[in-house]
Amino acid sequence: MFTGRKLLPIFIESGECLQVNKTAVDTSLASPKAVNELIEAHGFTFRRSLGQNFLIDGNILRSIVHIADINQTDTVVEIGAGIGTLTRALASLAKRVFALEIDQRLNPVLADTVAQYDNVELHNADALEMDWQAFWLEHNLGKVKLVANLPYYITSPLLINLFEAELPLEKMVVMMQREVAERLVAEPGTKAYGTISVLANYYSDVKVCQIVPPTVFMPRPAVDSAVVMFTINHNKHETVDGALLWQVIKAGFAQRRKTLINSMASASPFKGSIEKTELRSLLESSGIEPDVRAERLNVDDFVTLTSRLATMSGVSNQEKGWSNERQ
Ligand code: SAM
Repeated sequence: MFTGRKLLPIFIESGECLQVNKTAVDTSLASPKAVNELIEAHGFTFRRSLGQNFLIDGNILRSIVHIADINQTDTVVEIGAGIGTLTRALASLAKRVFALEIDQRLNPVLADTVAQYDNVELHNADALEMDWQAFWLEHNLGKVKLVANLPYYITSPLLINLFEAELPLEKMVVMMQREVAERLVAEPGTKAYGTISVLANYYSDVKVCQIVPPTVFMPRPAVDSAVVMFTINHNKHETVDGALLWQVIKAGFAQRRKTLINSMASASPFKGSIEKTELRSLLESSGIEPDVRAERLNVDDFVTLTSRLATMSGVSNQEKGWSNERQ
């Protein structure tokens, strides 16, 4: 069993040192030496296709749990436990940690590294295939913080799934590739602004907290990363059906070089189910110029459009061929 426990205080942005309830963060696995020793002891080999870039920097680790503001009343869901580096840091501060990992080859490593924490529950699961609402129900989860150093290949689809599941999340603190982080906070009218920018800002306040160089991972990824904080805020905008909103956003950006009306008219679920003239009047009555590009619309524009669409007089959404059901 891995019993080493390196305890370091949390640093806050001002450079001051902050003890959290006298309990310091467990950063014992965040070093090249610790990772090398563990993978050698278990004969583990990294799988690039699973985005296995493990954290080896205690400062970044402390920074993540500090941004997530983890305390003893928190239940945390972690995605992609790896060898347990972030899992241990979270477990040293939180009440409970549910750690998900797809790669069963890591089970013996994790059994070793998190054995001393009885507040950790490990689950072998593919985060992209999860039924999140069922998971929440099964484990009787209330307001939860989600913290992860995500494999790059799942970042965008996972965020979409999590937002669409409309879970009672309090906040998410996620390490991801810098380019996706930049898209999440992009302003309308910019090249980086797209579907995920609109969706994330409908459900939350998004902040890029820190840019992280490849040197803090083993092995090193090819690009910079970023720590992003999402403060979930369901009252930010008028409430509309989330699934329908996502369909509208996707249709708007389906052919982003086309005008909004042309992009929407030729995309599912509108293609073949709504006349262009009808679409034009829908856009105009929502206060949106039909001949702009989707990238000019802000979140409220998409919300207004979705709201109007949902209440289009005389015709139910089902008859129109689009559904309010999640897909
Ligand atoms: N949390 C560890 C750390 O910070 O060092 C590991 C992070 S590593 C970037 C991402 C982890 O996610 C890997 O251990 C990988 O096996 C796991 N993973 C990859 N795809 C996954 C998926 N679809 N569902 C759950 N875990 C996944």
